[in-house]
Amino acid sequence: MTVSVLGGGIGGLSALYYLTLRQNATKIKLFEASSRFGGWIKSSKDDKTNVVFETGPRSLRPTGIPGLATLQLIENLGIEDLVVPVHRSHVAAKNRMVYAKNQLCMMPNSLKGIFTTIPPFTKPLFYAGIKDLFTGKSKVPLEDESIYDFIARRFGEEIAQYAISPVICGICAGDAKEISVKFLFKEIFEKEQKYGGVIKGIFKSRKEKVQDANAVTANTEFTKRAKIEGWSIYRMQDGVEIIPKKIVEHLQNNENVELNLNSTCERITFKNDEVHILINGNTQISKHLISTLPSFTLGNLLEHQHPILAKELKSIQYVDVAVINLLYNNEDLLKQKGFGVLVAPSENLGVLGVIFDSCIVDSKNNTVLTVMSGGKWFDKHYGKDSSIQNIEKVALENISKILDIHEKPDVCLTHLNRQCIPQYIVGHHARIERIRKYIAENKLSLSLGGAASDGVGVNDVILSSKRIAEQLVL
Ligand SMILES: Cc1cc2nc3c(=O)[nH]c(=O)nc-3n(C[C@H](O)[C@H](O)[C@H](O)COP(=O)(O)OP(=O)(O)OC[C@H]3O[C@@H](n4cnc5c(N)ncnc54)[C@H](O)[C@@H]3O)c2cc1C
Repeated sequence: MTVSVLGGGIGGLSALYYLTLRQNATKIKLFEASSRFGGWIKSSKDDKTNVVFETGPRSLRPTGIPGLATLQLIENLGIEDLVVPVHRSHVAAKNRMVYAKNQLCMMPNSLKGIFTTIPPFTKPLFYAGIKDLFTGKSKVPLEDESIYDFIARRFGEEIAQYAISPVICGICAGDAKEISVKFLFKEIFEKEQKYGGVIKGIFKSRKEKVQDANAVTANTEFTKRAKIEGWSIYRMQDGVEIIPKKIVEHLQNNENVELNLNSTCERITFKNDEVHILINGNTQISKHLISTLPSFTLGNLLEHQHPILAKELKSIQYVDVAVINLLYNNEDLLKQKGFGVLVAPSENLGVLGVIFDSCIVDSKNNTVLTVMSGGKWFDKHYGKDSSIQNIEKVALENISKILDIHEKPDVCLTHLNRQCIPQYIVGHHARIERIRKYIAENKLSLSLGGAASDGVGVNDVILSSKRIAEQLVL
């Protein structure tokens, strides 16, 4: 049987990779619309300094089942030596800042910090825990709510506004007032609903059977190293793009695999137990289709036959993010070292945050920063002028305002990533369940991968593809 995979980003490539590991080999075809593989993962090297710029993902987490899956993939691809870990004791793991109330604020990173009043908060964070302990259950049981409302209800408005909202900007460029609590805290929310508090939930559920990440994904010396050495995050030397590149290398040696670039899917039609896929005007017939396309694209492709499914897929919103890579031939520009700074949306600055790349990886005596801009608020700030010049102007104004860096960068590289991150707004999980139910009830030979269904991070997308490939009946 032939399996077709749509999309040559990390989702599509890893689906192919895991399919090739199956015993009963099958013919697999991948169709990618653009002229390169990798999707949003894109790394480039500055000619003069050899510094790596990432225009998409840059930091990966080694923890949890998704984290382990990626580490194992990296090991199987033989590129574990290219991992650049950031240990928990490293300044970039410890120092995380928020720009709020017009000032740069260091988030507490010690027990002492929790009992002290630290700006932008007006009382010690310890009180947030007390509020959770003394606040009862919600009046009616909740199916879902925004992450902002959940945190404000349990820990107070300040924590929602100055701690959680910037983090949501950093993870999905979204508005915490819209993003579902289940996006980050599904289990915590469910326990809170059951036991009437977050802390209560954690303590009372201690005896419940916890699924140990190590139990489901076999550990190797390499994955154990991440745990023993206490990696907080890691990057890839030469950039994250080495992962899709190595997958492609691996797939090119497999005679059952066909990799097609410049191959745009124009229409999908399900006929009995076949899928007819229109690629550049020619029909490809497959037994099964794995889509890792953005959900709005998939919706358009099958709308003619499944308008209800298409409507659900197309109602998942995506945001635009501008990524501005900056390099200064001067190593001492940052007054405070750390991972970077996230901006509280209430500051209304047009930038989501700044990553201090040169504090995280060797940047050859340069200061290297990445400004993330727009997201949920892209139209508000750039609706009238979304030119690269204007985006760079706003980025540099904010670098000056937030970090007190006033000199001109020696390199300024800007990418505007349109509709790049799906938003898991309140009700998203229920929507994905309805979509999967529709696919099952209508017996469509279709599996849904990619960033819109099981998590927006690289790890989530890889794990989702792994599960699809392993569970597919061949
Ligand atoms: C700016 C930015 C920063 C990020 N930072 C991080 C980070 O630090 N850590 C992290 O874990 N995650 C991060 N992410 C998220 C991560 O990049 C994504 O989860 C992941 O790359 C999504 O992969 P994918 O394969 O699902 O989708 P994509 O990369 O979007 O791949 C989909 C592919 O489908 C192709 N395609 C589209 N239409 C068609 C068609 N009609 N026919 C055929 N092919 C088509 C596209 O060309 C594309 O190559 C970031 C994302 C962005 C945008």
